Amino acid sequence: MKEFCSSREFMEAVSEMAVGTGFRPRVLGHVQSDSGSVPILSLSRKVAGRAPRILIAAGIHGDEPAGPHAVLSLLEQFEKGWESLHRLQVEIVPLINPSGFDRRERHNQTGTDLNRTFGSPAPPPEIRLLMDDYRRRPIDLFVDLHEDVDTPGFYLYELAPDLPSAFGPKILAALRAEGHPINLSPVIEGMAATDGLILRTSRTVPRFFRQGAPQGLYMKRLGARRTLTFESPPRLPLSDRVAMQLLALRTVVDLYTP
Ligand SMILES: [Zn+2]
Repeated sequence: MKEFCSSREFMEAVSEMAVGTGFRPRVLGHVQSDSGSVPILSLSRKVAGRAPRILIAAGIHGDEPAGPHAVLSLLEQFEKGWESLHRLQVEIVPLINPSGFDRRERHNQTGTDLNRTFGSPAPPPEIRLLMDDYRRRPIDLFVDLHEDVDTPGFYLYELAPDLPSAFGPKILAALRAEGHPINLSPVIEGMAATDGLILRTSRTVPRFFRQGAPQGLYMKRLGARRTLTFESPPRLPLSDRVAMQLLALRTVVDLYTP
């Protein structure tokens, strides 16, 4: 697979592919990056009727390229037999942090961790554009694609009503069945984990950070019924990490499609 290192090139490729697969690219605004002024894009594809709405977001941390590349692969595969995804209202934000992507850094070019600023009264430009859009477009299911430099295998966070209804165990089982490594540590990022799943019910959601919240918590506050955050291990080749992210997404979409 081709690895993109410039956010402008990435955005051009993703826009072109989106149009070819029936997604409508919307430019929410522009932000500055080392490659110039770069659009923040949202891709949407509607279906008739009252289908559930899924939002897939990627690239909020610039040094986690598997998420944006998984969006490209999703668009490539969309026409070839991803039937369940065709039955949902789909929104995709392919790359939230262009300046971090260009520098291969977690933070944006002003040194801000964008995933701690949702809901803040004065968010950075990238996040202000998204907050304005998200508030107008309610979502049922939110999936955030991340990577974690410290992890030896895939793991995920799920913010769901309770364990019996959680998607996490099914996603992790699908990944294990394909031979992908899972982080089996009982504690990940300081939180209790079970076979790669960090489950949080609404009771265990921490208070918002004073300066803002992670995107998943913000989406929950806006009414998303379930939010998932995937974390792939950057020590593996990009193509393997993209395969993990896509398989996890495919499993979620199959579980969620009516
Ligand atoms: Zn991240």
